Amino acid sequence: MPRALITGITGQDGLYLSELLLSKGYEVFGLIRGQNNPKHDLVRATVPGVQLVTGDLTDMSSLIRALEFAQPDEVYNLGAISFVAYSWENALLTSEVTGKGVLNLLEAVRLYSHGDASKVRFYQASSSEMFGKVQEVPQRETTLLWPRSPYGVAKVFGHYMTINYRESYGMHASSGILFNHESPRRGPEFVTRKVSQAVARISLGLQEDLTLGNLDAKRDWGFAGDYVEAMWRMLQQPEADDYVVATGETHSIRELLDIAFTHVGIEGWERYVKQDPRFMRPAEVDLLIGDPAKARDVLGWERKVDFPALVTMMVEHDVEEQRALAGR
Ligand code: GDP
Repeated sequence: MPRALITGITGQDGLYLSELLLSKGYEVFGLIRGQNNPKHDLVRATVPGVQLVTGDLTDMSSLIRALEFAQPDEVYNLGAISFVAYSWENALLTSEVTGKGVLNLLEAVRLYSHGDASKVRFYQASSSEMFGKVQEVPQRETTLLWPRSPYGVAKVFGHYMTINYRESYGMHASSGILFNHESPRRGPEFVTRKVSQAVARISLGLQEDLTLGNLDAKRDWGFAGDYVEAMWRMLQQPEADDYVVATGETHSIRELLDIAFTHVGIEGWERYVKQDPRFMRPAEVDLLIGDPAKARDVLGWERKVDFPALVTMMVEHDVEEQRALAGR
């Protein structure tokens, strides 16, 4: 039975990847931070088959202990401080966790493997935020990186460290450059979930309006459940490599609002939406749109859920959830 250790187990990707690996017969271990972390319960309820191990990406000794406990064949580093807006307010902490945390884990894997580079396969969750001020449209694996946030800069560090451990130590270390991926499990601070929750509440008469930032921002949004499949496929390749995972389409916040409001039968969302500079970014990334050709050709990966299906899936989930919370 193959064994996997996942950091970031409490996030949407950690949960979807756990479900995927459990369905393939893996024994799955999840690294979880802290004492009495309330998210223990979330993981236990969602993926009861996962064994939790306490540890923190900023504490290398805890990572070595977690590796010794889990004895993994595959390590997926999904743990990070991942909210771009927050990374501006907590730039040093973001660098420690999202950036240096990757090096801590790579080094822990190297020490744990005692010079046997074939012992563990490693996945690093790199990000389209690394492209920032985009130097080429669409973005591919070779596009020059130009991050525009502390989060993006930290992810660039992790990305190149992963490549360095592959090239210097021969480690099977791959980096997935994933464009935005969403789901009903997305945190409510991200714009897609913020919109799906608000639209659900407005349709149920529980909320009057919705305050957003830049409505012209565009993203290449896919479904997280599809994207974890690409992570797994990367680690099954004979050679480690880097892959862009994206839909190849871009959509604006306005389109997101059109689909979400229309789905609950509301025409003319402009009445409900306010704008506030609080939700604007100090520096916005440009036209993010990924070219998934390599993932398609080498990994045989393709997305199954398109943008309208993703938005309606999220809105439908939130209508049910908000209705239950309101006791209706
Ligand atoms: P990100 O791509 O990882 O930063 O994902 P987000 O979902 O946080 O943001 C996606 C885009 O939505 C960014 O360009 C934001 O500027 C834009 N946006 C507009 N209004 C909002 C808002 O109220 N909250 C968030 N999170 N993003 C917003």
